[in-house]
Amino acid sequence: MRSQYCGALNASHINQEVTLCGWVDGRRDHGGVIFIDLRDREGVVQVVFDPDGKENFALADKVRGEYVLQVTGKVRARAAATVNPNMPTGEIEVYGTALTILNEAKTIPFPLDGYTTVGEETRLKYRFLDLRRAEMQKNLRFRSKVTSAIRNYLDRNGFLDVETPILTRATPEGARDYLVPSRTHDGKFFALPQSPQLFKQLLMVAGYDRYYQIAKCFRDEDLRADRQPEFTQIDIETSFMSQEQIMEVTEGMFRELFKDLLNIEFAEIKHMPFSEAIAKYGSDKPDMRIPLQLVDIKDLVTEVEFKVFAGPANDPKSRVTALKVPGGNEKLTRKQIDDYTKFVSIYGAKGLAYIKVNDKSDLEEGLQSPIVKNLPVPVRAAILERVGAENGDLIFFGADKHKIVTEALGALRCKLGADLNLYTTEWAPLWVVDFPMFEDDDKGGWTSIHHPFTSPSCTPEQLVASPGDALSRAYDLVLNGTELGGGSVRIHSPEMQQAVFQILGISPEEQREKFGFLLDALSYGAPPHGGLAFGLDRLIMLMVGASSIRDVIAFPKTQSAACVMTDAPGTVDELQLRELHIRLRNQKKAADTATESPEYGM
Ligand code: ASP
Repeated sequence: MRSQYCGALNASHINQEVTLCGWVDGRRDHGGVIFIDLRDREGVVQVVFDPDGKENFALADKVRGEYVLQVTGKVRARAAATVNPNMPTGEIEVYGTALTILNEAKTIPFPLDGYTTVGEETRLKYRFLDLRRAEMQKNLRFRSKVTSAIRNYLDRNGFLDVETPILTRATPEGARDYLVPSRTHDGKFFALPQSPQLFKQLLMVAGYDRYYQIAKCFRDEDLRADRQPEFTQIDIETSFMSQEQIMEVTEGMFRELFKDLLNIEFAEIKHMPFSEAIAKYGSDKPDMRIPLQLVDIKDLVTEVEFKVFAGPANDPKSRVTALKVPGGNEKLTRKQIDDYTKFVSIYGAKGLAYIKVNDKSDLEEGLQSPIVKNLPVPVRAAILERVGAENGDLIFFGADKHKIVTEALGALRCKLGADLNLYTTEWAPLWVVDFPMFEDDDKGGWTSIHHPFTSPSCTPEQLVASPGDALSRAYDLVLNGTELGGGSVRIHSPEMQQAVFQILGISPEEQREKFGFLLDALSYGAPPHGGLAFGLDRLIMLMVGASSIRDVIAFPKTQSAACVMTDAPGTVDELQLRELHIRLRNQKKAADTATESPEYGM
């Protein structure tokens, strides 16, 4: 039906006859000449109808916004005065010689160029219209380029694309599972995969080393700003490669994407131990565009009388830390400092002490602060020296439980970076390595920091003897403070796997019940293996500079994990529930909404 895309036309097509199909983006009647902006997924071109083309002109007069047209015409150069440099096709227009209205359209619920004034809920309800906007077209075209470049890189490097099941058993990645009731097995449920983790490991046992998949993953979490209940991973697994080699080959993919698609080349990407990331940046995904660092001063304040500092300084589970803002004295108003105090309270901080350094040569009068009088002069001197303070700097302090100080000052560091625009570079990738194996679950037990299949860097005996000290062979690739991907070298011996399960409090019976297939597989010649997964949606969001992950997904869910367009999740009728052996607990609510059949009345 068409010879070209509207948005693909340019001066090289001048004098050619073309046939276009698209939607009416706009229509203007200029003194007897009708201009139609015709849009398809590649962009917009101007089509002109004049009264000489009688029938066509009359038809053109009838078309309205979002009608679907087929237009034949000749591409011609625009008169110099009408060239539109803001439009990719602005040098040319199509002189229409034939017009067919392929379909009409009702008036759309929001203008595509005025979408910002309607709420996101409306955009998502009419996503099929919202996706017609140039920005969404650009994002989805870019997404397709990224997946194609990924496949290209991985294919070239010998990776095989293998699909893994969606209806499966729980795959523990630390989130809640989406469950699917089984009709054929009364009382039993499938879980949708939180990731293809165990299947990709089984593929390694089966000998298909170098696997990848652009895989859908499902996690039933309370949604935070940039999360989706179903999202896409670039999932990778390899055998017979060291941790460094796995990181190298996956980093190669990441570099190639940025080089080929954005023309950005990264210098060497640093490997930073987790402990350093937490100590200096208060995060396991530090935003390295921001030059600010946390500096621990615990040892300097153990003896002071000021309880706010001395208390945490003498508690092994606490932290006392300074964050210097160079020139902050001038840059930050009292009001901003108050706002930051509120901000850190989100993370549980009870206050935000600070010192303004007016004159560091005068430790009595040259420091302005509500707390400084509580600190002896030698301690003031030691703090200024430790953080390398200069006149004009402002120093914030955090003193509390380790977790609170780390999270509060880590977040404050990022907020200051954004508010004061302290960024020193546009892109700052970083590998974070040497994560601990476990963290305290606050109930006297342990939980895995990565997942339970991650290999520790010690023996099973050392691991069991001291789980809290064990480091894992896990690694995360971080970009501008966002975790782009993470992975690990895996456990490939059943003994080590059982040791980890034991530490996690999974009894031998439960191990057999839930992971028997894995333990079996590990005992039939499992190769050393490892891999990682990148979050595709987030990667694309960063690459296109979108502010929300929903802007790079064709049909995303809302914050409450619903699809307002299809109205999913929806109710099902009683017969279906019966087949699935399900009786709803909340009968009243369900009865109000379900399509009920009387014979199965609840
Ligand atoms: N399965 C892990 C995840 O989804 C990634 C990996 O370890 O390869 O985070």
